[in-house]
Amino acid sequence: MPDIKRELLACLQCGYCVRVCPSYEQTPWESITPRGKVYYLNQLANRSPMDTILRRGVKIDDEFVEAVFKCTGCAQCETVCHVNIEFADFWEKVREWLVEQGKGPMPAHSKLYERIKQTKNPYGEPAEKRGAWWPEEIPRSPQADVVFFAGCTASYRMQRIARAGALVLHRAGVKLDIMGGEEWCCTSPALRTGQTDITHEFAQHNIREVETRGAKAMVMTCAGCYKTTSHDYGTYYSNPTFPVYHFTQYVLDLIKSRKLKFTKELNLKVTYHDPCHLGRHGGVFEEPREVLKKIPGVELVEMPRNRMGSRCCGAGGGYKSAFNDLAVNIAAERVKEALATGADILVTTCPFCVLNLQAGAKQIGSNIRVLDISELLLEATEPEAEKVPAATVEKAKAATNA
Ligand code: SF4
Ligand code: SF4
Repeated sequence: MPDIKRELLACLQCGYCVRVCPSYEQTPWESITPRGKVYYLNQLANRSPMDTILRRGVKIDDEFVEAVFKCTGCAQCETVCHVNIEFADFWEKVREWLVEQGKGPMPAHSKLYERIKQTKNPYGEPAEKRGAWWPEEIPRSPQADVVFFAGCTASYRMQRIARAGALVLHRAGVKLDIMGGEEWCCTSPALRTGQTDITHEFAQHNIREVETRGAKAMVMTCAGCYKTTSHDYGTYYSNPTFPVYHFTQYVLDLIKSRKLKFTKELNLKVTYHDPCHLGRHGGVFEEPREVLKKIPGVELVEMPRNRMGSRCCGAGGGYKSAFNDLAVNIAAERVKEALATGADILVTTCPFCVLNLQAGAKQIGSNIRVLDISELLLEATEPEAEKVPAATVEKAKAATNA
């Protein structure tokens, strides 16, 4: 049993965590809830001879294991817990323990882990394709200000976000480099599913690769990569020897110092979704909002559930990999909240959230645009020369209608 005795003793069984749990909404079974799982863990931890006499057998069975992994790791339960159980860490400790006992993870998680070990990304894609998204117009600087860490999802599945992030930084005059095929998975998908033994090696590799390039900082658009490299590498290997920024933190400074200039007024109403790994886990709530408010013509409208109380999109913690249909259902609920604000665009700051929220929008037949903040900035900083003249647009429209 991991070091969770204090938490098990402290739980009041009050149930405040039940109503905020997105997994419980999808699987309305008490034993799925944080309260139910804490109760069961307490029974496992505190066996007495009386239990044997009364034949009150409690064991780690398949249903309990599934309940532990049927959790997005959103930490919404942590924000309402009356005894301040730090659930973001708590669930990861429990998962790691189950894996050590040979009782977990889910088969989908084992596959992710094997692919990460073999190909350095959870999609099983070849390393030589990893940097294929890099925009040709950006020179790779040998003495870069920033190594742009694209992450696996933006490298292989959402390349438009990696491109947007790099182009925006380039437009602000930032000297950039990437690691290309030498960028390895940050290991977030493995860590979140209790498979912690590869993080040391992967962290060491990624940190060395940035150091070798002599960059002053590492910047990323992915909330999961940000949480892992800035918060978890120190636990499993060592904190990076250079500053790690989420894209929004770095870009806000570029805007404030007038290095990134807006060229376009967007005239859009947008609402912002806090990724769990950036917000509740990483403590970055205001920078994305400040960036959005600085874009000319953007009106930011908040969903009722925001910041610490933000509703999870359903993608995290290995939940999407193992229970995709449920993850998309959760995303659909979040999209409904976005639609209720009257926003034209649902903006977030993580490629994996974009991926799942788009699936949620599709499920309910909504055509709301779901974008990463880098894509909105790309639109708002488009250089004059790249703008398509209005006359050309009209001509193209006329040709299409003819
Ligand atoms: S972390 Fe989120 S999904 Fe997991 S038990 Fe807590 S509220 Fe439920
Ligand atoms: S909110 Fe905290 S104290 Fe209350 S049941 Fe949930 S875990 Fe236990």
